[in-house]
Amino acid sequence: MCVVNKIKNHLKMDNIDIKKNIETIKATLPERTRLIAVSKTKPVEMLQEAYDAGQRLFGENKAQEMRDKHEVLPDDIEWHLIGHLQTNKVKYIASFVRMIHSIDSLQLLQTVEKEAIKHDRIIDCLLQFHIASEETKFGLSLEEAIELLNSNEYKALSHIRICGVMGMATNTDDTTLVRSEFANLRHIFETLKRDYFADNDCFCELSMGMSHDYPIAVEEGATLVRVGSSIFGARFYGTAN
Ligand SMILES: *Cc1c(COP(=O)(O)O)cnc(C)c1O
Repeated sequence: MCVVNKIKNHLKMDNIDIKKNIETIKATLPERTRLIAVSKTKPVEMLQEAYDAGQRLFGENKAQEMRDKHEVLPDDIEWHLIGHLQTNKVKYIASFVRMIHSIDSLQLLQTVEKEAIKHDRIIDCLLQFHIASEETKFGLSLEEAIELLNSNEYKALSHIRICGVMGMATNTDDTTLVRSEFANLRHIFETLKRDYFADNDCFCELSMGMSHDYPIAVEEGATLVRVGSSIFGARFYGTAN
């Protein structure tokens, strides 16, 4: 993060009530839905404030940023990697990451396996699906996921666990479209549950919904919502992160 953004984020801190924002959002969530506080680009002081308000699940989209924050924040935080993950970055987070939401290839899964073995742990993963009508978003199609799950290479993996699916809806005010995309992700979840994970209690997570659309995602069955700006305020950078 550049210095100017850091300073801006610090300035912004003063008039944002993180505790109140978290409590307000949590009050709207049903028992089956957990809140991931998406803290990307935000300084550790703000994460600490959320932690002090009882928040334990945090989401970051960059591996090195997550590693740096993990080093200075309490050990009982559950770190969720939610952004596109390059294979050469897995090593930064493999020792501690709680869940990787953004698995979009067999190759990435194999890299996670390799790094998990080094740390003698099993890493929980979600398959990311491309459900939006925007081309720019990452993720698998159902056909690609089925091919992955049927492959011998996948079946050989012993240090990763697929716990569900993740997706991002189109960034639009058209709530009918957003709802249909979340419903499609739930359908994908149910199809995979039936055909590949019927006996697997771990396969239970439906990660969908961000600040502007999480209420719809919850209605469509989300078990994990990933909320950033509604907790920590707007982010100050120009890219589409
Ligand atoms: C940034 C991000 C979020 C949170 O976005 P907000 O609009 O700030 O709530 C959720 N999911 C992913 C994958 C993200 O990159």
